[in-house]
Amino acid sequence: MKILITGGAGFIGSHLAEHLLRSGHKVCAIDDLSTGRLKNIQHLLNQPDFQMVVETILNETVMDRLVSENQVIFHLAAAVGVELIVKSPVETIERNVLGTDVVLRLASRYMRKVLIASTSEIYGKSELVPFKENDDRVLGPTTKSRWSYSCSKAIDEFLALAYFKEKNLQTIILRLFNTVGPRQTGRYGMVIPRFVRQALAGEPLTVYGDGMQIRCFTYVSDVVDAAVKLLDEPKAVGQVFNIGNDQGISIAELAEKIIQKTGTKSKIVYIPYDQAYEEGFEDMRIRQPDLSKIFHYVGYKPKVQLEQILDHVIRHFRENEI
Ligand code: UDP
Repeated sequence: MKILITGGAGFIGSHLAEHLLRSGHKVCAIDDLSTGRLKNIQHLLNQPDFQMVVETILNETVMDRLVSENQVIFHLAAAVGVELIVKSPVETIERNVLGTDVVLRLASRYMRKVLIASTSEIYGKSELVPFKENDDRVLGPTTKSRWSYSCSKAIDEFLALAYFKEKNLQTIILRLFNTVGPRQTGRYGMVIPRFVRQALAGEPLTVYGDGMQIRCFTYVSDVVDAAVKLLDEPKAVGQVFNIGNDQGISIAELAEKIIQKTGTKSKIVYIPYDQAYEEGFEDMRIRQPDLSKIFHYVGYKPKVQLEQILDHVIRHFRENEI
């Protein structure tokens, strides 16, 4: 099959491209390299079944051609990382809403199946864990820019579901929880690559808030596995799925684990949220997916657990990023 990946030079996009090529598909990646990196897909450039287009998905002329040439679209191009979102709210909102509008409009013109990457930020600060796909969303006020990310992705979800309902377009929503693995950079705030880089450089590990907030980390190969399983399941069309790992850890405990695994002399420093992000920043205390729906539809269960995830990421940093 011919498959288009928007955000194909990003962290998750590059792993997905690799997997699809290995399975015998032809892959075209489009990426404007705003947060994606050519380095992520360098090793794929000499493969005849891989094509890389460096362009924004807002360029409708280019996108029209790419959507018409491919049968399926994985739409991963989006503003990522809480730090980036807080610093550049205009870019976040426009990139997410306008980008998805272009993708869905063109997909509808050529009737192409679209799998859209969404986010666990959708659930907001609800503490009713584990989160189920149909749970209510609990969000803070519009004066706190963090929530713009949740809302912009919610518009993407509404739009994708509306295209399915009204125009019969085959859309599937992938609600991704904290995903980690090689090639993820800590530049936009993601905690594991940041802590690992800090530990290996002998710098203090920066725990925000009291460190008691809990996250569940998913290895990128599990996310790719789930996405591909959903692509192949006709009953998944028009549906929303949590994709993640349901084993949680507090951020303070995570920092200790990384210190112990790397053998660094680094210490932990606690930084108030106001200082780390912006005044009045609100975090989620706990975020955990309910995975029963995706298990029911395609038998998905995460295979890689935190100990192994950290080993892989530490090895990757030691070999590539220092
Ligand atoms: N975090 C932290 N130190 C850092 C970066 C992040 O303590 O250097 C915290 C962050 O405040 C959040 C958790 O780690 O509570 C996960 O952050 P990340 O940005 O990876 O993902 P989020 O869950 O915020 O989407």
